Amino acid sequence: MGQDLIRRAMESRRLAHANMFTGEDLEEKRRAAQSLAAGLLCSNRPGTYGGCGTCRECGLISDQAHPDFIVARPEGATIKLAQINALRREAAMQPVRGEVRVFVIEQADLMTREAANALLKTLEEPPGHSYFILLVKEPARLPDTVRSRCVPFDFGPLPVERAADVLADRLGLPRDEALMLASLAGGRVARAEEMAAEEAFLELKERADSFLERVPGLSAEEVLALAAEVAGNRADADLFISLLQHGIRLRLGRALEPLSCTDAILHLERIRSLLQSNVNPLLAIEALLLSLRSGLKRV
Ligand SMILES: [Zn+2]
Repeated sequence: MGQDLIRRAMESRRLAHANMFTGEDLEEKRRAAQSLAAGLLCSNRPGTYGGCGTCRECGLISDQAHPDFIVARPEGATIKLAQINALRREAAMQPVRGEVRVFVIEQADLMTREAANALLKTLEEPPGHSYFILLVKEPARLPDTVRSRCVPFDFGPLPVERAADVLADRLGLPRDEALMLASLAGGRVARAEEMAAEEAFLELKERADSFLERVPGLSAEEVLALAAEVAGNRADADLFISLLQHGIRLRLGRALEPLSCTDAILHLERIRSLLQSNVNPLLAIEALLLSLRSGLKRV
């Protein structure tokens, strides 16, 4: 993970002057930037990631009051040229208390094009006492020129449980649904938010729910028609299987009889691995739905 690589870069004195922390969670990247700054400015344990946590320098950093630890963040929807120009002037000045200055740009992917171009000039020839840390959620939104100047440290997706908390909070979703989205998106909050807004996803989910609500009371014709609607391609078929799995777990013991759910989930796993091979997705989903229709029992 990002933190370990930063720690190693710092403690082996290979830390670059321009760094980029990428990942979902701003708070996590913020904490890492602060630990890095503490390591650079701490008077007790200089060069140690996180610093000592007790000296005056570490205290000022954690209070966001250290004159050599400077943070820029969006004003409104973007980070503007004037903000970056102010930061560049600071970067050219000598440190106030310590030997280095640390500049953090939060949500750096929200820099305007002019702001990014201005920053680039400083990143191309950073003053020897200055370290830059760009906190970025979507690196693709930064100009290539800026991105290629920075050493990337990836903080990756969130643990599914944490991602679900963020989603529940941000989208006002019930916990169950947030958890399902978080897990389908592999802990990537931005991806989960996209999914939650996608028409195709919502339709598949509605079909999975309606199937599980009505099972086993559907006719064979209805089941085959449903299979034709959801198994247009391998990716949809795979997502539909995930939605069924989540739907069954949600209803386990509440609407559906537990043992029949366990069997169904195992069966879904088998069909999922079949789909990875060359099996026809429509045939696989037809067979699957017919077997769930007779296998799933209501409580
Ligand atoms: Zn310290």
